[in-house]
Amino acid sequence: MIDSHAHLDSPRYDADRDALLARAWDAGVDTILSIGIGEGPDTMHQALDLARSYAGRPGVPKIYATAGVHPHEARLADEAAFAKLDGLLGQPEVLACGEIGLDYYYDHSPREVQQAVFSRQMEIAAAHKKPIIIHCRPSDNSTNAWDDTLDMLESHWSPTALGGILHCFTGEWIHACRAMDLGFMISFAGNITFPKAQPIRDALAQVPLDRILIETDAPFLAPVPNRGRRNEPAWVAQVAAKLAEVKSVTLEEAALRTTENFRRFFGTTVIAQNRP
Ligand SMILES: [Zn+2]
Ligand SMILES: [Zn+2]
Repeated sequence: MIDSHAHLDSPRYDADRDALLARAWDAGVDTILSIGIGEGPDTMHQALDLARSYAGRPGVPKIYATAGVHPHEARLADEAAFAKLDGLLGQPEVLACGEIGLDYYYDHSPREVQQAVFSRQMEIAAAHKKPIIIHCRPSDNSTNAWDDTLDMLESHWSPTALGGILHCFTGEWIHACRAMDLGFMISFAGNITFPKAQPIRDALAQVPLDRILIETDAPFLAPVPNRGRRNEPAWVAQVAAKLAEVKSVTLEEAALRTTENFRRFFGTTVIAQNRP
């Protein structure tokens, strides 16, 4: 399996990161995409540092990184942050720009600032020919952030043909369709195991199996039966199990297909980790 979205640089892992990565490997996780948003722009390099420090180490998954400014921290994105992002996206271990996008649920940054920073990061990613990983969360009982995100992708990102990933998908089928038309993959997280998440499972049921990725978003959003605890990449297995159930396929097929999807999407830059 591949965990396509985890915050491995979280300080919540500082005490036991080696053991946590070994548990992921033992659970069948070959590869983890470590999201490089840090605690804000100043620390967005931490995911790359981790990818490098674990490179070649046996008994742990292969780690790749991303870099980006999360919409929560958009108000902190100054020219130095954009220059830093530009440098990080030039590194081969950094597969994508993200997570970037719009969050109208928390509104930690003003919406017009979020939009401007999202758009600027799309330009930087396009210059490096790297795909983008989208975070999108609307206000309660609204699709406002989905509508704005997809409008911006259609106008600013579509011409690049680089595609991307909608991470931790919680939207409606129409939103998935608009993104897939732009070459996006749809990534599902542990919230598909939550009892009240039937609308997400309904969308999942409709997304073709060749467009689906799985993720933990660790340390957040632990799946049932560990809901409420600190999440970790080993538990992507529970996301795969729920995917298998919703799609009426075996766990092995859910794992294999999502792994193939990740490798196909990122192409030859992603090396398969050899298992003995
Ligand atoms: Zn997110
Ligand atoms: Zn995340």
